[in-house]
Amino acid sequence: MLPGMSFDVSVDLRSIVGTAHVLVEDDLRAGYETDWTGRYSGECLAVVRPASTAETSEVVSYCNANNIAIITQGGNTGLVGGGVPRAAEAGSRLSIVISMSRLAHLGPVDTSTMQVTAGAGVTLAAWRAHARSTGLDAPVDFAARDSATIGGAIATNAGGSRVVRFGTMRQQVLGIEAVLANGQIVGSLSGLPKETVGMHWPSLLAGSEGQQDSGSFHGSTRRSPR
Ligand SMILES: Cc1cc2nc3c(=O)[nH]c(=O)nc-3n(C[C@H](O)[C@H](O)[C@H](O)COP(=O)(O)OP(=O)(O)OC[C@H]3O[C@@H](n4cnc5c(N)ncnc54)[C@H](O)[C@@H]3O)c2cc1C
Repeated sequence: MLPGMSFDVSVDLRSIVGTAHVLVEDDLRAGYETDWTGRYSGECLAVVRPASTAETSEVVSYCNANNIAIITQGGNTGLVGGGVPRAAEAGSRLSIVISMSRLAHLGPVDTSTMQVTAGAGVTLAAWRAHARSTGLDAPVDFAARDSATIGGAIATNAGGSRVVRFGTMRQQVLGIEAVLANGQIVGSLSGLPKETVGMHWPSLLAGSEGQQDSGSFHGSTRRSPR
């Protein structure tokens, strides 16, 4: 238990995602606390690895209720420190890293609509290989493909080496399921090209860079070119 806190954050988070998926030891957290360049690093209470949208929502709700900041992390290849905690400053909020690594589900490719639903933690390389196994391809590709994730690429609205032909990630996402900072689950994975119900969440969230008021993505319906 931390000084000044009447509850044990790691115990509470373990009750949501399981003991093995709340990392509190210094050496286990270290790789998540420093960015790929080594220029940015900080400290978090724990690294939490939810396995579903529901678990993610519970973790985020818990943090919201207890004034704990969250940093969403995909492959940690973003280069500008957005996916790692900040160095502790006097009076700064406690934080956790939510790693998307276990949200790695890839649905079947629908070759007629050229769509696939992928978890936020699916790497671009896995997405590409999956699409290619059906004769299609993934429109966005760049050198960090083996680590960079679908969620991270949407959050940064990455473009990559084929951007002139296919556009950025924003142009590829037909549907999205996301958890807002209060734990609310929003969006739709219906995959309809013309979605008339409510807000267009892909437009709002692509390029949001995981800001605390926009939360985390947990599944998205993606288009693959032939
Ligand atoms: C503004 C920007 C634009 C970029 N554009 C390009 C490009 O065009 N071509 C290129 O080769 N590389 C680009 N990069 C580098 C590229 O973003 C990364 O290599 C990759 O897209 C990031 O994926 P990642 O899974 O490693 O994300 P991370 O590095 O882990 O995270 C990057 C940011 O996205 C947030 N984030 C990650 N996952 C989620 C999620 N599931 N939900 C919500 N937020 C999330 C993080 O909090 C962080 O702010 C860009 C980087 C930035 C910051």
